[in-house]
Amino acid sequence: MNEKKPPHLIDRTEEADVPPGNIYRHGISDADWYDWRWQLAHSLSKPSDFKGAIEFLPEELQALQSPGMFKIGVTPYFASLIDPHDPNCPIRRQVIPNIAEKQVSLDEMADSLGEESHSPVPGLIHRYPDRVLMLINSQCAGYCRFCTRSRLVGDPHHQFTNKDYQQQIDYIAANPSVRDVLLSGGDPLILPQHVLESILKRIREIPHVEVIRIGTRVPVYLPMRIDPDLVQMLSRYHPLWMNIHFNHPKEITPDVKRALTMLADAGIPLGSQTVLLAGINDCPQTMKKLFHQLVMSRVRPYYLYQCDQVPGSSHFRTSVSTGIEIIESLRGHTSGFAIPTFVIDAPEGGGKVPIFPQYLISNSDKTAVVRNYEGLITAYHQPAGYASHDPLTCPACLSAAEDSQEGVSALLSGHKRAILPEQWSSSHQRSVPLPDSLQPKRKVPAALKPLQQNPDRSDPAEISRKPNKKNDRS
Ligand code: SF4
Repeated sequence: MNEKKPPHLIDRTEEADVPPGNIYRHGISDADWYDWRWQLAHSLSKPSDFKGAIEFLPEELQALQSPGMFKIGVTPYFASLIDPHDPNCPIRRQVIPNIAEKQVSLDEMADSLGEESHSPVPGLIHRYPDRVLMLINSQCAGYCRFCTRSRLVGDPHHQFTNKDYQQQIDYIAANPSVRDVLLSGGDPLILPQHVLESILKRIREIPHVEVIRIGTRVPVYLPMRIDPDLVQMLSRYHPLWMNIHFNHPKEITPDVKRALTMLADAGIPLGSQTVLLAGINDCPQTMKKLFHQLVMSRVRPYYLYQCDQVPGSSHFRTSVSTGIEIIESLRGHTSGFAIPTFVIDAPEGGGKVPIFPQYLISNSDKTAVVRNYEGLITAYHQPAGYASHDPLTCPACLSAAEDSQEGVSALLSGHKRAILPEQWSSSHQRSVPLPDSLQPKRKVPAALKPLQQNPDRSDPAEISRKPNKKNDRS
């Protein structure tokens, strides 16, 4: 162990939650341990790989020996964080399979987010109007037992090719509405560096792409992958943001802090994504500790996800009220920027739906009654003379309107009269005019008349407006 460490590595004698006597490092040189390729090549997946380190529970052993499980893989580094004496260790439960994964309930779906139906070319998901998700790798540094994309992640037969990347990039280039591209997978950061750079370079050459994001768990499973060469390469493609998947304070070791420091020093804005997991992090104090440690490492807690309804995830899922309770325990009790947004990623491709505790008790034209985190109830008096902004006359609103996905904001702005469930029209065609309650309430200014009521429209909910060239989809 006297070999010289690579210069970018910090001293591991710093305090850490790593159990003493790390058996995985016995006989391993520092040079190997801190080599990310060595870590990946020695990924642990069979009971014998953990020999002498963990005594498995029967339900774990059964899962490790059972065919057809979601891919099993743990880096020796991440395995070294497992407390061998704690069967409920939060690190262990995230990566060691349990036979409970074989129990699939009726509400669980392989493609729980409806990604396939939003995929115009292989691996590219276009769910929202102005941003796309590019799946560019099916492999990860470690495999989370609750993975949302377990339908394709870890499958050696499901690899993305250069042809796939080019098709994805061509799609983005042909769609000027796309200003934000998220690279994910699998994990983009374990692709060969030249492959990742070639993808980044081609995306950056598209003039209408403003921001590139990378979604990754590499800094957690494989912090040694974050080296000066990688960071320097990434910083050539700014503005480049990174969202890192963290679930528990035990994951934030000195090695992880070093990796985060390098990324933040390179000007990469860092955010975290956390999955709410039963028995792992469904405790307000655990979450608070995690978020505090993240902000100390310059990572902004971004999303707290309700665990998706993926097959075999029942033993990981909590009630939604648990998430609300956690947010309630944070708001007012810690810095606002240490509190993520709690979301349900809605099934059927519904997208992220934010869920909040209720702070607005009542709201009239004159007064909003609110309560604070302590239970104090107060009144905010609204200004009497406020002339509301009018999106029907505001040039910025008229030119920036989206073409189809405005949702409730379209009702508020007066661009739509209603949002109709599928088949609403056909099941209500009884020659009855639209009820008064669904008629537009405001008078349309004369100057805008040509942009309004379009008799050619068959959808009674639609009100036409000036076409928006920028957002036209081809
Ligand atoms: S790192 Fe992400 S993509 Fe990979 S297994 Fe975990 S959740 Fe799935």
